[in-house]
Amino acid sequence: MSTTQPLDVQPTPLALLLLGREADPSSERGVDCPGELPSPSDPDLVERARAAKEKLGDKVFVLGHHYQRDEVIEFADVTGDSFKLAREAAARPEAEYIVFCGVHFMAESADILTSARQQVVLPDLAAGCSMADMATAEQVAECWDVLTEAGVAERTVPVSYMNSSADIKAFTGRHGGTICTSSNARRALDWAFEQGESGQNKVLFLPDQHLGRNTAVRDMGLSLDDCVVYNPHKPGGGLTAEQLRDARMILWRGHCSVHGRFSLDSVDDVRARIPGVNVLVHPECKHEVVEAADFVGSTEYIIKALEAAPAGSKWAIGTELNLVRRLANRFADEDKEVVFLDRTVCFCSTMNRIDLPHLVWALESLVEGTVVNRIEVDPETEQYAKMALERMLALP
Ligand code: SF4
Repeated sequence: MSTTQPLDVQPTPLALLLLGREADPSSERGVDCPGELPSPSDPDLVERARAAKEKLGDKVFVLGHHYQRDEVIEFADVTGDSFKLAREAAARPEAEYIVFCGVHFMAESADILTSARQQVVLPDLAAGCSMADMATAEQVAECWDVLTEAGVAERTVPVSYMNSSADIKAFTGRHGGTICTSSNARRALDWAFEQGESGQNKVLFLPDQHLGRNTAVRDMGLSLDDCVVYNPHKPGGGLTAEQLRDARMILWRGHCSVHGRFSLDSVDDVRARIPGVNVLVHPECKHEVVEAADFVGSTEYIIKALEAAPAGSKWAIGTELNLVRRLANRFADEDKEVVFLDRTVCFCSTMNRIDLPHLVWALESLVEGTVVNRIEVDPETEQYAKMALERMLALP
């Protein structure tokens, strides 16, 4: 396992725990963790996690998202982005318990894609995602009514980012749309625009406005004027029927609290500090940041780009800090300099809710025969969400 090295970052003046909660703390789903959690200071935690995992053997499969802490990643059987992890779980039917070290929507996706006899556990139910929580089922149903009244719903295909709740995925499936990841968003949009007879379809892109805008404008050549932003907190989304009729991309007003923190100043600052640096950012960053970067891609793309980079190259990475720190450690021996794009700390606070005490608690409970914090999607939601996921799998 890699050791932790200090990066050139300073504590943010903002309370990071506020991230992920936006203005409405009640929108964080599930904050209870029933039962006795081990103390974080317990020096035996590592040994307890190892022993519990060994006792469970093939019955348990631990998934670790790239943005998880080192102490948790150490116990992951596989690491990856949310979609890769859900598929890995589905490919291991012998694993009765899937412990998902990630956030709530990811555990839902794993439950949707795994068999009925596999049970998915999220070690801390407070590990939500602020972006996913920015689009609720009620808000999206209301948006569809607005599009219907404006006479555009029939020509609109929903495309929802993987980072959305099972309810939103089900809405997407019900209305003939598809799910996308940050790796295949371009293919999903191409597909969506080609649906129907007119070839003049619109896309309702949920819930990350930045991924939608960056893909449409940067990758597909649409203009910024082709995009409008639907604000669920304003009547009619804050848009006129004419604006909705003229738009090609209707972007939901959602964003990632972590990637949204990178700014043009971060890019200018790192270029001034490190001459010759390559700026590589995730497409959940703001459009101006993506435009100013040298390379843009998903977490898997970022990892592959660094693997392929020549010795002596320098990289500033705009994504979550746990991953960047691991990559900096991993590539230090190969003489590749990897730094975090911003000067302030930028962990995903909800991802960080999964720590060793919660993991030990979840594993030891399974050893005792108790499934804690099970994430279970109801059959109807699952049916429609699966439909949308299967459309993604069938994308050309
Ligand atoms: S990094 Fe952003 S999108 Fe990912 S879980 Fe955290 S808040 Fe959600």
